[in-house]
Amino acid sequence: MEQFDAIVIGAGAAGMFCAARAGQAGRRVLLVDNGKKPGRKILMSGGGRCNFTNLYIEPAAYLSQNPHFCKSALARYTQWDFIDLVNKYGIAWHEKTLGQLFCDDSAQQIVDMLVAECEKGGVTMRLRSEVLSVTRDEAGYLLTLNGEEVRATRLVIASGGLSMPGLGASPFGYKIAEQFGLKVLPTRAGLVPFTLHKPLLEQLSVISGVSVPSVITAEDGTVFRESLLFTHRGLSGPAVLQISSYWQPGEFVTINLVPDTDLHEVLNAQRAAHPNQSLKNTLALHLPKRLVECLMLLHPEQFPDVSLRQLNSRQQNGLVDTLQQWRVQPNGTEGYRTAEVTLGGVDTHALSSRTLEARDVPGLYFIGEVVDVTGWLGGYNFQWAWASAAACAQALAEA
Ligand code: FAD
Repeated sequence: MEQFDAIVIGAGAAGMFCAARAGQAGRRVLLVDNGKKPGRKILMSGGGRCNFTNLYIEPAAYLSQNPHFCKSALARYTQWDFIDLVNKYGIAWHEKTLGQLFCDDSAQQIVDMLVAECEKGGVTMRLRSEVLSVTRDEAGYLLTLNGEEVRATRLVIASGGLSMPGLGASPFGYKIAEQFGLKVLPTRAGLVPFTLHKPLLEQLSVISGVSVPSVITAEDGTVFRESLLFTHRGLSGPAVLQISSYWQPGEFVTINLVPDTDLHEVLNAQRAAHPNQSLKNTLALHLPKRLVECLMLLHPEQFPDVSLRQLNSRQQNGLVDTLQQWRVQPNGTEGYRTAEVTLGGVDTHALSSRTLEARDVPGLYFIGEVVDVTGWLGGYNFQWAWASAAACAQALAEA
């Protein structure tokens, strides 16, 4: 039977990075994945260009029942450390917006870099491998894979969350946590588009594909300022994906479709200068024309087909309210099928924030998305994968 210092389950972002670093520190590491290829989510990420980190990483950009938990790992392996590694491999990158760093060419470069790092660490990678059972005794962990048994003194679970089952996502990590007595917090889809109730969805279908800058606010007061996209299923775009992680079923979100503008002031000034200009043309200076036409159809009482001179103050108040404090109650989300992340997961109270090891189960570690730490859109989730992996690898190296 083959014996390793550590077995890492999941050849995704966190698993590959942890295996590579532990291997490079002299540990004999086996990396196991059920898929045909390593890093499948990385390849899909950032529209194929992988938004691999963010210049503005801070613990406040992470959701967790235990908000302090992520601090230690994030402080010890920073975005600058990962940028150094990317630079070392000569991978060209650029900042897109809001500190989000993307490869100039392809996400494949990040996967190739991680595979090369694993090779440098002498990591044994076993793909298309199902883990049939995991048991623990005094000597460590015994795993039954399809076709063989393997042993290791330490076991790292990096099997990710539930989002995108088509890319190999599975509840494996949560099951292992429960098997060893760790609490798993309820999971739900995060960074995911909203679906809308039928009448509203049908009314908005004509503006599917329209995108606008917006400020979106959740009931808990969380605010994001990003673009919003109307889709044939409901609402999407970065603003909606971000706020979805802070939204609970049944709640409303409030959307400002004309941010940073005093609309009353704009309308009053325009009325003084061009009293005969139509309301429609005035609004079209600040919003896509298709959206204005849709609003005129939906709310003719607030968006009448009149000139600015004819617009009364009740109508003006109504339209400003609708545009800048649009309250929407989503029907739900598109769920794990399209979610970028899974909120919840292995309760961090049972883990060491320094090593990611289960406090009561020596030699068992949880890293990456399987843990109850979820970042914002924009490279924050990969940075958590890299940082938690580095913290765990350091612990494996020192063990
Ligand atoms: P994963 O990368 O999901 O890896 C888990 C691995 O475990 C997988 O390879 C899986 O096959 C394997 N596995 C699962 N179950 C088993 C099992 N039973 N046995 C063996 N192996 C198993 N984040 C960003 O920061 N920037 C982005 O640009 C970005 N874009 C994204 C785009 C999409 C479409 C999606 C879905 C997510 C995106 N994310 C992005 C989120 C990011 O991909 C994840 O947060 C990150 O991949 C988590 O890393 P991980 O290693 O914990 O899990």
